[in-house]
Amino acid sequence: MAAKGKILINGERCKGCHLCIEFCPNGNIEVDEVLNKKGYNPARFRETKEEGEKGCTGCAQCAVVCPEIAIEVYRAK
Ligand code: SF4
Ligand code: SF4
Repeated sequence: MAAKGKILINGERCKGCHLCIEFCPNGNIEVDEVLNKKGYNPARFRETKEEGEKGCTGCAQCAVVCPEIAIEVYRAK
């Protein structure tokens, strides 16, 4: 089944705590290897999905746990 959601992460707002990565039930967020201006490795949404991966459901758990309010969640109708 196609994924129903996507997220936008504000990489400059991100403090690199990686809580969102830990809490995403579908493994849709990863660590970006590029440092942001604050010197943190920000979280990055994984756009491409491997075969059999569920993809983002728009559950918003990542946004709820983010202490920096750096994540916006979009849900497809
Ligand atoms: S929870 Fe927020 S601050 Fe922490 S890594 Fe994710 S986007 Fe960055
Ligand atoms: S909305 Fe849910 S499924 Fe999508 S990236 Fe965030 S925690 Fe993962």
